[in-house]
Amino acid sequence: MRKIMVIEDEASIRSFIVINLKRAGYAVVEAASGEEAFDVWAQNPDVMLMVVDVMLPGIDGYEICRRVRARGSEVGIIMLTARV
Ligand SMILES: [Mg+2]
Repeated sequence: MRKIMVIEDEASIRSFIVINLKRAGYAVVEAASGEEAFDVWAQNPDVMLMVVDVMLPGIDGYEICRRVRARGSEVGIIMLTARV
C-alpha cells in the first residue's frame, strides 16, 4: 500500500490529516518532530510522500527537507504551513 508520513507537532492537526489520508486509502505513519521523523523514516523506508509542517520545534520543516535531499532521497515532500 502507498505509504505517507505526516510530520506535525500539533496532535489535533496531525490526527485530522492522518484520519483523512487513511480514509483515502493510504497507509500512514506519523511523527511529532523532525527528530522523530528520521527515526520513523528509518523504520519505514518505503514512505513515498512526506507531509511536513514548516513550524516544528527543533528541526523545522525546511531543515527536514534539506536533510532528506542531502541523503539523496527523491521522496515526495509537501510542505504544510499556516504562514503566508
Ligand atoms: Mg506546527
